[in-house]
Amino acid sequence: MSLIVQKYGGTSVGTLERIQTVADRVGRGSKAGHQLVVVVSAMAGETNRLLELAGKLAVQPFEREVDVLLSTGEQETAALLAIALQERGYAARSFLGHQIRIDTDSAFGRARIRSIDGERLRSALQRGEIAVVAGFQGVDEEHNITTLGRGGSDTSAVAVAAALKADVCEIYTDVDGVYTSDPRICPQARKLQRISHDEMLELASLGAKVLQIRSVEFAKRYNVPVHVRSSFDDSEGTWVVPEEDGMEDILVSGVSLDRDQTKITVRRVPDRPGIASAILGPIAAANIVVDMIIQNASAAGDADVTFTLPKTDFRRALAMVEQTAQSIGAQEVSADTDVVKVSVVGLGMRNHAGVAARMFDTLAREGINIQMISTSEIKISVVIDAKYGELAVRALHAELVEKPPPAET
Ligand code: ASP
Ligand code: MG
Repeated sequence: MSLIVQKYGGTSVGTLERIQTVADRVGRGSKAGHQLVVVVSAMAGETNRLLELAGKLAVQPFEREVDVLLSTGEQETAALLAIALQERGYAARSFLGHQIRIDTDSAFGRARIRSIDGERLRSALQRGEIAVVAGFQGVDEEHNITTLGRGGSDTSAVAVAAALKADVCEIYTDVDGVYTSDPRICPQARKLQRISHDEMLELASLGAKVLQIRSVEFAKRYNVPVHVRSSFDDSEGTWVVPEEDGMEDILVSGVSLDRDQTKITVRRVPDRPGIASAILGPIAAANIVVDMIIQNASAAGDADVTFTLPKTDFRRALAMVEQTAQSIGAQEVSADTDVVKVSVVGLGMRNHAGVAARMFDTLAREGINIQMISTSEIKISVVIDAKYGELAVRALHAELVEKPPPAET
C-alpha cells in the first residue's frame, strides 16, 4: 500500500465529464489499496474568469479580496470531486487550505508556504477516506486566505506530499510528460523519461510551463518523487528526480522558448559607479524581477545598459526607467516588446565545452541575430527577434538534441 498524492490541473477537471473521469481514476487507485490525497486546480478558465470579474469593478482591486475570490475556484472543484467520489461509493472528504493549515506568509497573490500540519489529512486517511484538497490556497497568521501564484496547485501538491512523506506526487495534466521542447513548435521533440531537479528548475523558469517553479524547489528540498503524467491515459510520464549517474552524459536535455520577455535599453549613460544601481534599484524595489542585464561601455566614456523583464511589468518599469534616465543624464531610453528568449538546458554542459559555440553557429546559419546572451552552469539563453523564436527552437533542437554528440577529441 502506498500513500499517493495526485494533482489534477485545470484542463483535467475542466468539465463535469472530466471530473467524472478523474473520480474514476482516483477510485481505481483507492480500490488498488492506496491511500490517496487528491489536490485539485480550478476548472480550466475559472481563475481568469474570476480575475476579470474583479477587474470590472476596480482597476487595482485589493489583493486580499482577490485571493478570497480566486480561492473559490479550487473550492468548487474540491467539492465537486468529493461529491463525484461519494456518488461512486467512496468515503471522500474535501479540505480547504485553512482546514488543513497550509500556513503561508501574507504576500497575497504570491504567498509562500511556511508549513503544513498534516494531522487532519492523516486522520482522514486513517479513517479510510480519500482526501480532496483545494490547491493554490493557504492561510496566513491573521487567518486571511492567501493564494500561491498562477500554477500554484502544483506547489500545494508537492508540499502536501512532503508533509505526509508520500511515496509519490503524481501531477496529472493535459500533456503526457516533460518534452525536450514544445511539441507544438518542434514536432521532433520527445518525451523525457527522467529529468533532474536542476534541469527542471531551469526549464520551469524558462517558460516550459509544465510545473510551477516553486513546486520543483519543494520537490528538490524535501526529496519528493514527482511524476508528471497525462490525465487522459495511463502512459508513463516523466519522473522529476535527484541527479543520477549518466545524466551528465546528455549534453542538452531541453530547448525552450520564453515569449514573456521585453527589453529596455538606456543609452549613453555616464559610465560611473552607482549607475546600474540607480537604474535597476527602483525596479527591484517595485518587486519586478529583471532577468538578463548587459552593460557595454563605449569609447566615449559612457555606456548602454540593457535588461529584460516580463511583459506584465513592462509599462511600470518603463515609466520608472524614463524617470531615472532623466535624473542621471542618459541620452535616451528605448524599448522592444518583440523579443523572445531561447534557452538550451543540460547537465552535460558542466563538463563539455563547445555547446555555446554550436548554439551560436546554428543561429548564425539560420541568419538569426543574437541580441543578448546569458549563461549558467547548465544553461545558455539568448534573446532574439520574436519572429525567429520558433525557427531557432527547431534549429537548436535538431543540432543539439537530435544529432549524436561529436566524438570527444
Ligand atoms: N487555478 C490557479 C491558476 O490558474 C492555480 C492552478 O491551476 O494551479 O493559476
Ligand atoms: Mg499548471
